[in-house]
Amino acid sequence: MNIILLGPPGAGKGTQARILMDRHGLVQLSTGDMLRAAVKAGTEIGLKAKAVMEAGELVSDDIVIGIVSDRLDEPDVKAGVIFDGFPRTAAQAEALDNLLAQKGMTLDSVVSMDVDDELLVDRVSGRFTCAMCGEGYHDTHKRPEKDGVCDKCGSTEFKRRPDDNAETVRARLEAYHAETAPLIAYYEAAGKLKKIDGMADIDDVTAALERALGKGA
Ligand code: ADP
Ligand code: ADP
Ligand code: ZN
Repeated sequence: MNIILLGPPGAGKGTQARILMDRHGLVQLSTGDMLRAAVKAGTEIGLKAKAVMEAGELVSDDIVIGIVSDRLDEPDVKAGVIFDGFPRTAAQAEALDNLLAQKGMTLDSVVSMDVDDELLVDRVSGRFTCAMCGEGYHDTHKRPEKDGVCDKCGSTEFKRRPDDNAETVRARLEAYHAETAPLIAYYEAAGKLKKIDGMADIDDVTAALERALGKGA
């Protein structure tokens, strides 16, 4: 099963993708994570992407489509992919249709996660992750069970993204509304779209997502 989680920054795409990965053995393909890894490694792509990401703008379609195409050539994607943060533009959506066709893959569902803009600023401003295993947390909505210790791996090191501040979030939301939200209609026309309420508690969103995908818990 190959699916897209579509939603604005802070909607909960990464959080739900990790849960689906653990429970159903799917592979998370996060273009944001891949770009951040490229920035950290100082690759040519990373050098091009760094300032764009810090400004909350979109990295060029060519770069992003290229990294997705390469990733889809790795054997583990056969288990099924959760696209998280991709596609984000009409050009990326069309490129994904072509890539999947070329690689003999199909797109099963696109789940749109609805969350009001006001809530997103709080979601993104309070976000932090484990530096070791990448588990996601939130200052108020999802604190580690033991303060300062990751629930999943026991690490005591956490990190925050440089673009997760209130000003940059606004630029990212603008990019979302201008470039990405139109994809909802694109996938609706293709008969692939499912909508869920992303404002509920994390567990309730997971339950709605599993229902939408026909994967009962
Ligand atoms: P995205 O990948 O869509 O940008 P994340 O999954 O990183 O979003 O979630 C953004 C922040 O909101 C994280 O700190 C996460 O812990 C928190 N979060 C995710 N889903 C919910 C939810 N349903 N209710 C409250 N907080 C949530
Ligand atoms: P969020 O879900 O919180 O918006 P991501 O981790 O998906 O964050 O993306 C972080 C940044 O990486 C984006 O603001 C953008 O600069 C870049 N990026 C990630 N995915 C894409 C994409 N598909 N197209 C263009 N830029 C992207
Ligand atoms: Zn951890």
